[in-house]
Amino acid sequence: MKNKSEKLFEKSKKLIPGGVNSPVRAYKSVGRTPLFIDHAKGSKIYDVDGNEYIDYVCSWGPMILGHANKEVIRDVKRACSAGLSFGAPTKKEYILAQLINRCIPSMENVRLVSSGTEAVMSAIRVARGYTGRDKVVKFRGCYHGHSDGMLVKAGSGALTDSTPDSAGVPVDFAKNTLIAEYNDKESVKRLFDENKGEIACVIVEPVAANMGVVLPKEGFLEYLREITKANNALLIFDEVITGFRISLGGAQEYYGVTPDLTTLGKIVGGGMPLAAYGGSKEIMSIVAPSGDVYQAGTLSGNPIAVTAGITTLKLLIVGKKKGLYEKLDEKGRYIADSVREVLGDKVCVNQIGSLLSVFFTDKSVTDYETALSSDTEKYAGYFNSMLDQGIYLAPSQFEAMFVSAVHSDAEIKKTVNAVKNYSYEEDKI
Ligand SMILES: *Cc1c(COP(=O)(O)O)cnc(C)c1O
Repeated sequence: MKNKSEKLFEKSKKLIPGGVNSPVRAYKSVGRTPLFIDHAKGSKIYDVDGNEYIDYVCSWGPMILGHANKEVIRDVKRACSAGLSFGAPTKKEYILAQLINRCIPSMENVRLVSSGTEAVMSAIRVARGYTGRDKVVKFRGCYHGHSDGMLVKAGSGALTDSTPDSAGVPVDFAKNTLIAEYNDKESVKRLFDENKGEIACVIVEPVAANMGVVLPKEGFLEYLREITKANNALLIFDEVITGFRISLGGAQEYYGVTPDLTTLGKIVGGGMPLAAYGGSKEIMSIVAPSGDVYQAGTLSGNPIAVTAGITTLKLLIVGKKKGLYEKLDEKGRYIADSVREVLGDKVCVNQIGSLLSVFFTDKSVTDYETALSSDTEKYAGYFNSMLDQGIYLAPSQFEAMFVSAVHSDAEIKKTVNAVKNYSYEEDKI
């Protein structure tokens, strides 16, 4: 007998490519069909068959305060009654820009958009417009949304081999994307040497979280700051995941390295479709209508999304004063330490604050290659065992685990117990 999720998946597949509106939701790499979600509250998510799970996906990052936060929902409901969209400026957009600037001072000027993809695409256009150069350096294994130029990693051969990852991306577009290795200064230096005066910007996830969580080695981000400055190129931190996550001021506050441009998404919209990019007044002044880099959006700064963002950021600002980020770090660290204790050298656990990954490899994961050394079938077995025990993890080895402010100690203990019950030897796929 098929359950409701399975039936809905079959129906959806007839109308929606692969049955989902974003590929990783299809559970392909864990050998089962996706749960269809009915609702969520706090740290719990409930599927249409009435099963309850402790949620560590948290909508892939945004729900740092937990699902259906009372204040966020109250304010969003109020905002809805006042109209869903005006296509005209509102006071709330100014307030959100002010809150972003207060948390991340390098974002002196902020432009609101509707997705992380759009934020990155626009920031790169600004970097190109500002420098008058075309080439962009990105790192293998870093994800920056699905715009054409960003769907490139290296081919297995030379680092400079810029081939697109996706059908439909012209090789000519990908040509301007140069690929370096995360945590490898030499690979960045080589690209600058080989492309003198042609590189507009380096874009990086300051903590990589889309090949699983990979932390920057000491000095790596500082080096990116130096080499971009020395070559009059811009440094873009893609903080779509790390912004308001590893600290209120993101990775740039945590590591004390200030980029020229920052992109935000996920948490900044509190669960609504909202993202942002920004930087110094001088650089951002080239964005239309003040300058000639064109970027626009019918629903940009949507009042409902902006409201969810404002309330979320306000709660985080208040929370920080009460030790919210220390608490998040404690929880993340406790899970990481416990998994290390239970699974030993069968796994590598990378953790920073409430962001972590369990890699099924005996190697230390520091870049794309070592991340790929993970046994994804073992991960699938682990995922399935955890799900059967009511723990909802990301259905892919290469997505992060997100802990929220409302995961209770008891829920975290229950999670660790589930790890103890999981059997490494038994493949449950
Ligand atoms: C999720 C993500 C994006 C893309 O954001 P969307 O809102 O999915 O378009 C870009 N960069 C990073 C680092 C991300 O994690």
